[in-house]
Amino acid sequence: MNFLSDTERIRYSRQIVLPDIGEEGQLKLKRARILIAGMGGLGTFSSLLLAEIGVGFLRIVDRDIVEHTNLHRTPLYTTKDLNRAKVEVAAERLKRLNPELVVEPFACHLDASNIEELMEDIDIVIDALDNFETRRIINRESYKRKIPLLFAGVGARSGNLAIFNLKEDSLCLDCLYHGILDDELETCDIIGIHPALLPIITGIQIHEAIEVIIKGSSILDGSLLFIDLNSLNFDQIPIHKNPICPVCSTENYIQDFESINDYRVLDICGGDNYMFVPGKKKIFELEKIYNDLKSLYSISTKGKLAVTIDFTNNIKITLFKGGNVLIRGSSSPENAQQIWDTLKTKISG
Ligand SMILES: [Zn+2]
Repeated sequence: MNFLSDTERIRYSRQIVLPDIGEEGQLKLKRARILIAGMGGLGTFSSLLLAEIGVGFLRIVDRDIVEHTNLHRTPLYTTKDLNRAKVEVAAERLKRLNPELVVEPFACHLDASNIEELMEDIDIVIDALDNFETRRIINRESYKRKIPLLFAGVGARSGNLAIFNLKEDSLCLDCLYHGILDDELETCDIIGIHPALLPIITGIQIHEAIEVIIKGSSILDGSLLFIDLNSLNFDQIPIHKNPICPVCSTENYIQDFESINDYRVLDICGGDNYMFVPGKKKIFELEKIYNDLKSLYSISTKGKLAVTIDFTNNIKITLFKGGNVLIRGSSSPENAQQIWDTLKTKISG
């Protein structure tokens, strides 16, 4: 594992020549050990890229079989694979694509009983899941072990990306989406999923995974990238540790709150960004909020986890499904409070 073979030098020559990769970077990729949680649309595209680029080890986990409804967005599966375990088919295809790759398939439901085993000796976790119950399990474990976690979520024509655990005091997935229950989210059989979204989201996700492997950093760190194919808007939203996060916060401010309507402004993000967090569990009905606001403001982006509006030319407000509100462009916390108080009167969700 300490050198590249002549064949590898040729195979990867077009990326070795890229600044910041080189032979040293390629060797780091060869040594990297990655867990991909979920082998649906996201996982098949991301594993394909990782196999092509020369990552040495992939552990892939999925409990499902290949079904007809998967085939429009899963490049590793064909009609001949129907009813076979996804991870088994994926492992075969990935090995065929790159025989040097070591693939460990796990056909199981990822839960608290097996997460420690699945995370063992892993350098990076790729979240390619479709539910928050399992995401919370990998979020807790990767936060505990300080393993970089690349979150991706998709629905219809929009998606989100973020990276956690690059720094000691990193925020975590629960800082953003604490309290969301899967029953409260529309699933892809209801809202659908545009297959063209997946190579875009996973392309960026894997680009950042490679940055982390080679440089130990990512331009995505500290932000949530929101991609909306309807508007072709790529919005990089600053995100910060939530002081009432049950996973990564050491303080507990939650007792200060009296009701679900109480919001605390976090001194945030530096500059002119202010985050409001709810005191108790609060879930926004984003579809309802979108309907309330669409005639009043221009909608910048709309997804199943967040809606961003242009409050004025200079002020953008993002409402996250999990109850957080981010105001960008405000002149002071007091001004942000006024803006939030104004907006609150216009939404019913
Ligand atoms: Zn957290």
